[in-house]
Amino acid sequence: MKTIFACDIGGSKLLCGLVTPEGQILDTESTPLSLDITTDRIEEYILSFYTVLTQRNPEAEPYICGMTIPGLADTDAGIWVYACFSGISNYPIADRMSKKLNMPVYIENDVNACALAEKVFGACRDCDDFLWMTVSNGVGGGLVLGGKVYGGAFGGSGEIGHVIVEDDGPLCPCGHHGCMEAVAAGPGIARRYEAITGTWLSAKDISVLARQGDETAMSVMAKTGEYIGKGLGKAASLLNLRRYVLGGGVMQSFDLMEPYIREAFSREAFASPNKNAEIIPTALKYEAGLMGAAAITLK
Ligand SMILES: [Zn+2]
Repeated sequence: MKTIFACDIGGSKLLCGLVTPEGQILDTESTPLSLDITTDRIEEYILSFYTVLTQRNPEAEPYICGMTIPGLADTDAGIWVYACFSGISNYPIADRMSKKLNMPVYIENDVNACALAEKVFGACRDCDDFLWMTVSNGVGGGLVLGGKVYGGAFGGSGEIGHVIVEDDGPLCPCGHHGCMEAVAAGPGIARRYEAITGTWLSAKDISVLARQGDETAMSVMAKTGEYIGKGLGKAASLLNLRRYVLGGGVMQSFDLMEPYIREAFSREAFASPNKNAEIIPTALKYEAGLMGAAAITLK
């Protein structure tokens, strides 16, 4: 049975697995990654997981490898250009691992890989033009046009997290104020709840309270949905995409926020060409990154 050796290199965790070309995960191995991780150590982990996984699954015959990269990736050259969390830069990971694993290795930025996974295995198998957005501790986006990830002239396309949705809003890590990332990601949600109640709760706890009928928590989630809809509406006016797919931890509350997302989207987007746009939750559920690593080998 031919399988894909998929490696999801995250900011805090490395997850490797054997995945069939149909998207079935056969087996996985993982380890936490610390901030002082080195390229040598990453290579050692990947090789040892490869050995363990192939020994445990002798019927699997990995023939190709896909890796997701946290940060900037030069996909053509196979170079991990920059990592946001460690000192890693200009690391020719694809070439090095291809020699060690004795198979072709492809890399892609993690968010773009998730977008591709949605195209190959998920909710966009029938759709060539869509935006994938992840909302968790930050907000990331992957833009797929004509069935392919659109990278942008300088590798920064799809960064919907830095669309400004609140003038003079809170400071974003990027240096601007009121970006979607500053108000709709987990920390922004927690800050808004704290400003009203004086109590700091995680975005997840706030969503649980909202579900139990707590009016303050619900108003905070409604506002979050409003920001997300506004940001998507701006993207729609420019791109007129068929579908917007929402993933990440905060989007486990998609159902709570959906009416507010749709309402704000309708208010913001150029109406007539975008009236049939679809806003839906991801179909990838768990291990979106691992599925993304597999998907990039099949594009
Ligand atoms: Zn920003």
